[in-house]
Amino acid sequence: MTAIVASLTVVLVLALTSLLATKINENLLNMARQAVQEEAHGDADAIASALQRELTKVDVIARAIRHALEQRPDITQKEFGALVAPLISTTPSILLVGRSRGYILEQVYPVSGNETAIGLDYRLVPRQFIGVDRTLRSGETSLQGPVNLVQGGQAFVQRSPYYAPTTNDMSQIATGIVSIVVDRDRLLKEIAQSHGMMSYHIAIRSLGDDLNPVKMLYGSAGTFDHQPVLRQVPTDGSTWQIGLVPATGWPVTVRVGNLVWALSFLSIGFLGAMFLALWMMYRSKRAAESQLRSAINSIEDGFALFDPLDRLVFANEKYLSYYELSRDAIYPGNTFENILKEGLKKGQYKDAIGREDAWLEERLAKHFNPTEPIEQKLGDGRWLKVAETRSPDGNTVGFRVDITELKQARERAEAANRAKNNFLNIISHELRTPLTSVIGYARFLENVDILPGFKALDNAVRTGADRDECTRALSTLRSDVANMSGRITTASDHLLGLINDVLDRAKLEANTVELCIAPVDLGDMVNTVTSDLGIRAAEKGITLTSDVVPLSVNADAKRLRQVLINIVGNAVKFTETGGVHLSSDHDETNVRIIVRDTGCGIPADQLDLIFKQFVQVDTSVTRRNSGTGLGLAIARQLVELHGGTISVESEQGRGSCFTITLPLHARNLELAA
Ligand code: ADP
Repeated sequence: MTAIVASLTVVLVLALTSLLATKINENLLNMARQAVQEEAHGDADAIASALQRELTKVDVIARAIRHALEQRPDITQKEFGALVAPLISTTPSILLVGRSRGYILEQVYPVSGNETAIGLDYRLVPRQFIGVDRTLRSGETSLQGPVNLVQGGQAFVQRSPYYAPTTNDMSQIATGIVSIVVDRDRLLKEIAQSHGMMSYHIAIRSLGDDLNPVKMLYGSAGTFDHQPVLRQVPTDGSTWQIGLVPATGWPVTVRVGNLVWALSFLSIGFLGAMFLALWMMYRSKRAAESQLRSAINSIEDGFALFDPLDRLVFANEKYLSYYELSRDAIYPGNTFENILKEGLKKGQYKDAIGREDAWLEERLAKHFNPTEPIEQKLGDGRWLKVAETRSPDGNTVGFRVDITELKQARERAEAANRAKNNFLNIISHELRTPLTSVIGYARFLENVDILPGFKALDNAVRTGADRDECTRALSTLRSDVANMSGRITTASDHLLGLINDVLDRAKLEANTVELCIAPVDLGDMVNTVTSDLGIRAAEKGITLTSDVVPLSVNADAKRLRQVLINIVGNAVKFTETGGVHLSSDHDETNVRIIVRDTGCGIPADQLDLIFKQFVQVDTSVTRRNSGTGLGLAIARQLVELHGGTISVESEQGRGSCFTITLPLHARNLELAA
């Protein structure tokens, strides 16, 4: 990944460098061009006006000479020289001034070097004849050329006509021509020199009436192909166009181009390096963060971090899973208060239902001043231990530990403790009652003399009563003793039953009950149970019937009887009207013994509990009847030891139906099972 980003950065740096350097160089070039062009425009103006000035000067000189000639047409050569010399002395580019009368050149200045020209007939020189003839006939001054000079170089010739004073008709052909020959190269060199502008290629061409180029007058025609700065100078007879191009051409490169490249590369490269460094820092920060996150996520407990403004920074998966109902509100940036409010709306906090505002206030107070951990019950019934602490920089760190199991175990232990206390109360009462009977009746038997039968016998013996009366008194005494012994036996039996129950329970808990499995006839077994309990049923005025078919079952006869006595005994005990009926059915593997009564019934929410030890349904009927709450717990465990089950269906006020399901061929199951 890092290698890819580094390569991309390098490519980006190169591309940006090229873009930036090219752009800067373009701008610099434009600026350089603009500067050179501005300078060239200024220089072109200067050259144009200088040329204009020089040509005007030539024109003025020509006018002065014409004027003089028009005054004195018969001027001598000497006078001509005296006239011209001072006029051209300050214009070194003027090579020659000539004066013709008609087509004959009569006077020149300077004469030296031009002697042969005097007396020249223009009609014999075709190159010059056209210009001369046009000037003479048109009467207009014209600047002609360039013409080749004998001494080399080229020259412009200004021809201006003059008219002798006798000539009144100006439409007639002119008297003669004043010709001023100007050294072209010298003229332009002087202009350029005088303006210090030798660094240009200068070219001049004449334009036609339609302003199209007609003829090159000076310099190279190619100059006009290189985007020259153009200026126009009106001259006698035509318009000249000056073209100006820097001698080195227009700038095409930037001098500091390479420097720009280097600087661009350095700056973009620096930015690229900065970016890479920042990216790597960001990556390592992200890696550290994700390590921390995965570490926090793997914590078994819920964890959440809130910033000093109480906005959530991070909550791990466990935390979110605890608050499933308000999960949507638990996102970074949301405040703790908002999360609580959302949870309250959705019934997230069990103990807040019905008193949301007060709960919110209390919870926030604890959150802002965390001291002891608090316990919180959630909407789904789970319990959380909430521990919050404030870090020195103002953050709040919250832990959530699921203490549901702990809480349930505690509740179970408390319930067991309550049940045990209850049992102790019951058992002490249950034991004390028969014991009190036994002790009371035993006292009576110890002191027989207080029995009514003894008193009657004693009285009969002492008074010498007859034999019949003594026999009656003795019989009364016997009946009294038998009655008391019987009560002692009943109470002892009851006591023994209770003690047996407690011992059985202890044995079952210690897994030391051993079954003695043998074939048992179910019909016989049920008959003995109904006949044993039939007396109690009869005493209560209820029926106890059975239609259990004879069937051989592999079971521990003693324990099965104990189970039946318990279930049927309960049915009789808790039935005041109607009766108890035992029935059975079986298939190939199991037999079901059904004990149905029309008693008080058991509330639906207690049905599962009655098989737990020490549990008694809290009704007046139960309270009226003695019991320890052990019977059904023992019965269920004994049946389960046989590999069977006990279940109950009941409707309060209408009766109950206990079903014992036993395997037909029970094995002696491992006690530890
Ligand atoms: P106990 O010694 O109190 O009878 P048991 O474990 O045998 O203890 O029964 C537990 C409780 O179940 C009873 O106290 C009674 O409240 C309820 N119970 C059991 N059998 C019946 C029944 N046939 N009808 C109504 N309640 C019953």
